[in-house]
Amino acid sequence: MKCWHCDSEAKAICVFCGRGICATHRKSKKSYGGYVRTTRVEVPESGTIVRDASWCGFCDVEYTE
Ligand SMILES: [Zn+2]
Ligand SMILES: [Zn+2]
Repeated sequence: MKCWHCDSEAKAICVFCGRGICATHRKSKKSYGGYVRTTRVEVPESGTIVRDASWCGFCDVEYTE
């Protein structure tokens, strides 16, 4: 997979939209595990927060709290 921004080999994938991102263009953003279920792991009612989730810096993430 290629980086969405520059065509380099992607090192990470945006957890929100699935775009590929290289190390240079990777940004981090809070991901609320309680709302976005990407794994089969049981999430407690309070939810989990990933503070350093990979983000492409492109998609618009809206938090519904
Ligand atoms: Zn890039
Ligand atoms: Zn994204």
